[in-house]
Amino acid sequence: MSKIPYKIYLNESEMPTAWYNLRADMKNKPAPLLNPGTHQPMAAEDLAPVFCEELIRQELDNDTPFFEIPQEIRDFYKMYRPSPLVRAYCLEEKLGTPAKIYYKFEGNNTSGSHKLNSAIAQAYYAKKQGLKGVTTETGAGQWGTALSMACSYFDLDCKVYMVKVSYEQKPFRREVMRTYGASVTPSPSDTTNVGRQMLERFPGTGGSLGCAISEAVEVAVTSEGYRYVLGSVLNQVLLHQSVIGLETKTALDKYGIKPDMIIGCAGGGSNLGGLIAPFMGEKLRGEADYDIVAVEPASCPSFTRGKYAYDFCDTGMVCPLAKMYTLGSGFIPAPNHAGGLRYHGMSSILSQLYDDGYMRAVSVPQTEVFEAAEKFARIEGILPAPESSHAIKVAIDEALKCKETGEEKTIVFGLTGTGYFDMVAYEKFHDGKMTDYIPTDEDLAKSLATLPVID
Ligand SMILES: *Cc1c(COP(=O)(O)O)cnc(C)c1O
Repeated sequence: MSKIPYKIYLNESEMPTAWYNLRADMKNKPAPLLNPGTHQPMAAEDLAPVFCEELIRQELDNDTPFFEIPQEIRDFYKMYRPSPLVRAYCLEEKLGTPAKIYYKFEGNNTSGSHKLNSAIAQAYYAKKQGLKGVTTETGAGQWGTALSMACSYFDLDCKVYMVKVSYEQKPFRREVMRTYGASVTPSPSDTTNVGRQMLERFPGTGGSLGCAISEAVEVAVTSEGYRYVLGSVLNQVLLHQSVIGLETKTALDKYGIKPDMIIGCAGGGSNLGGLIAPFMGEKLRGEADYDIVAVEPASCPSFTRGKYAYDFCDTGMVCPLAKMYTLGSGFIPAPNHAGGLRYHGMSSILSQLYDDGYMRAVSVPQTEVFEAAEKFARIEGILPAPESSHAIKVAIDEALKCKETGEEKTIVFGLTGTGYFDMVAYEKFHDGKMTDYIPTDEDLAKSLATLPVID
């Protein structure tokens, strides 16, 4: 066979025409969302004031294996997809490993990450329903940026609640969103009840993702013609992100490559769930086996130290309850944590798969993540996002293990985005000011004590 190219691109005709719904192949389905008041499973009509109709249908469907990607979305995907699957020849050589390393790079669009794959789908369904606009929260800003791009494409209004510390520390992200026409409000704000309460109780607070979610939901349900959209965690988001895995699988199949190991970083679980989807499907159907690895920060270790339980998705406790690996909705990573992936919970789909033993998880301290990021940038050229660098770190570790054992494993990892807006974190690392804080068992016990009691 001819040498595998550095970058495997697909032709337009090879691009996926349907998203793959991993839940269809799961024997143990992910647990349903529960009403926070009654603890009963949420039906479509209960979710309708908050989410778009078609997205609710996707959220609740555990059985349909494929959802056709509407032509308008496929047209938008063509602007930045297929994303390349890169053979990391340079990295392999530098490491001196017999392992073969591939990465799927999702940073080749202006928003700089995979989040656009779901943002465009969510904006499309909102437009199709005749809505005026959508609301959302953003922490570091990638999701808000992706959604702003998607909304401007479909001419929808976009209201973003941005965690106040990020709003102040990341003015460039904010301006990208405004360039695409979004309105960006620092959270907590005085535009909502939840926000006003937070400001009263904690004057001067820098805000949190959980609070920004509560604000965005409040605005959606109280504004005519608006719904709330979310960039990770939900089943619908993993469905849209399956485009990453489907492209990866087609590209590998084209060259007869079968991976041994698939690695992805895990915040809310959407890129990992998308990357592994078709491979996990084969594993669930007993057709193939893969070593699937989730990588999370040691400072926010939902899988490796969390509990599998129903929990609140937001601090205001207005959202449905989700069963997931969680650290408790009150958990906030240490202030020096700069690597992203700071959500307290995890996708219900991935949580169930992890609990059933279909995948494993490791946690890594942030200084080692930035070491891996810098090494990767110098060797492969791409400046990676700190989030993505969690996967890089473990891919390098695994390749070095192969060097010791002589195993020629094929490793695929997800390179979810670029790090251009994370230079303050890189600066801290370069100046030797970055430290690792790993929460103690007592820290975790405190936030886990706030889990709701479900009979
Ligand atoms: C948001 C984000 C992540 C983490 O989110 P998931 O839902 O776990 O995928 C990872 N990498 C980048 C670049 C991101 O923007």
